[in-house]
Amino acid sequence: MITVTNLTVAYDDLVAVDDVTLQVPAGYVLAVSGPSGAGKSSLLWAIAGAVPAKSGRVEIDGLEIVDRPGAAGHGVVLIPQGNGLARVLTARENLSMPLLAERRLPAGDQDRAEALESIDEIIQKALVDVGLEESGDHLVEELSGGEQQRIAVARGLAQRGKVILADESTSELDSTNRERVLDLLRAEADRGAAVIIATHDPSVAAGADGHALMDEGRLSWDRRL
Ligand code: ADP
Repeated sequence: MITVTNLTVAYDDLVAVDDVTLQVPAGYVLAVSGPSGAGKSSLLWAIAGAVPAKSGRVEIDGLEIVDRPGAAGHGVVLIPQGNGLARVLTARENLSMPLLAERRLPAGDQDRAEALESIDEIIQKALVDVGLEESGDHLVEELSGGEQQRIAVARGLAQRGKVILADESTSELDSTNRERVLDLLRAEADRGAAVIIATHDPSVAAGADGHALMDEGRLSWDRRL
């Protein structure tokens, strides 16, 4: 459960998120839309602990989020706008980084080999899910914009988070792949995650369980969860 209470985010004098309150229970998908500059990314970053709250609170299952390591430790996964992929690494290497960072690998050779094998299986499944199992060994910079976006989604899925924050994650996709990614985000909710999708796309918003609108940092409701 994501609980945001009277959250304000500011960059110096610029208020990007203005006194926002919302809740997203496990199992639900919330879409947040609004014009560019409305504060959608800042809201997601604050939930991910990547920018500090000026005032108000973000809690995940009752635990307050104060920074990015803490949020990651509570299973908050951010699929950032612009993908956040390392361009000179392969797709597979990009997927492996957060998994290796979060798991302390066991010391014994065999245990370590088994742990690495299970990470490989998780990565392979995520690549298959986004339809890019053939592209795992390509450098990110060799992939098209839409393929990079799907790899960023795969990296998010591979982390099996409690909270998935998808920032414009379908903006560069054709309709088949957009449906595929939305189905995958829905499946994350069905497995028990709380999902927020920031989007400009009315069809994405229509498929969510609830739809919030942001404008100049303020949040209002088109459809409540
Ligand atoms: P959206 O995702 O809806 O486009 P953003 O959260 O990216 O909105 O931006 C909200 C406002 O905050 C905009 O005015 C933007 O210029 C500003 N902003 C975003 N990030 C920063 C930053 N790192 N430093 C200063 N201002 C920022």
